Amino acid sequence: MARQERTRAVSAATRTNLLALDQPALERFVKDLGWPKFRAQQILRWLYQERVHDIERMTDLSKAERARLSTLAVIDRIADCEVRRSSDGTRKFLLRLEDGLVIESVLIPDADRLTLCLSTQVGCTLDCGFCLTGQMGLKRNLTAHEMIEQALAVLDSLGPGERLTNIVLMGMGEPLANFEAVADAVTRLTNTRWGLGIPARRITLSTAGMASRLKDVAGLGINLAVSLNATTDAQRNRLMPAVNRLHPLNRLLAACRAYPLPPHRKLTFEYVLLAGENDSEQDAKRLTRLLNGIRCKVNLIPFNPFPGSPYRRPADSDVLRFQAVLRKAGFDALIRKSKGRDVLGACGQLGQLVSLHRS
Ligand code: SAH
Repeated sequence: MARQERTRAVSAATRTNLLALDQPALERFVKDLGWPKFRAQQILRWLYQERVHDIERMTDLSKAERARLSTLAVIDRIADCEVRRSSDGTRKFLLRLEDGLVIESVLIPDADRLTLCLSTQVGCTLDCGFCLTGQMGLKRNLTAHEMIEQALAVLDSLGPGERLTNIVLMGMGEPLANFEAVADAVTRLTNTRWGLGIPARRITLSTAGMASRLKDVAGLGINLAVSLNATTDAQRNRLMPAVNRLHPLNRLLAACRAYPLPPHRKLTFEYVLLAGENDSEQDAKRLTRLLNGIRCKVNLIPFNPFPGSPYRRPADSDVLRFQAVLRKAGFDALIRKSKGRDVLGACGQLGQLVSLHRS
């Protein structure tokens, strides 16, 4: 490491990263400096709405205040970011964290939407056999600011006419296994006074089915998606052993029925279709019985393969047949067009196969 870089790293380590502070912590920080409380909101606005990389840019703080703040704090943004573009317009962002681990976020353009898929863990707590991230094991939880940094890095890269419209917490990891940090990140994403101002109704959290924690999501005002993926416990134990052992189907569906859905909202159920595993007409019929009476829509996701995966994607005709059974029973069932498959950016394809060129 060059001397200059080493000096920077050492001094950065002893200063507080402003992005690591949530609103209450920043208010305490500002109070300890003897500054009025509204300084905290000004600083937050610079961090999230203006996305500045440098305290010097916070021009509604006096020069003296900026100098003082710079002796105690830094804005430590992730500098190491690489973008892979898919032929369908999807962009996959690889971000190298402070400790060298790499996370992935995916930006998905679709008609009038621009959706960002965020990671919540490095690797995953769970072991779903059809998901590449599940094969990595859990390296560690992401902090709230590492989740937000994904959004900041992507926003920095948008073209002039581009506006982020939706966020899905469906990247690497199980968000309900890292709930506190997820809740903090959601506050920063949604806050309109200083945060990114993304409406909660445009944010969706997807869980593999941690039944006892579903109710926590309701408090955030965001949408909930549940990855069901199977219609019997035997099948689900095979495909998603860790989560189904702890939260078997009957308990998961009971928690879904008890979920305090706001008016005009629906739960989403995701169902990965694996050829010969869970894609039969019988499965589709069982699914309609399981979901009977729940205000919901169903997203069917034909399996996205990754090197070494033991499963296959069903034929289009089988996918359509499965959908038809659900529709006939009155369900709103969509087939998710998986984008970004050529850069391993689609559902279930985020993981350790790809790493940054630079190392
Ligand atoms: N852990 C959370 C969020 C991450 S996965 C969850 O399980 O919901 C996001 C979605 O991708 C889930 O619905 C999951 O079932 C689906 N998925 C995982 N691997 C897949 C694959 N290889 N092909 C298609 N969908 C997959």
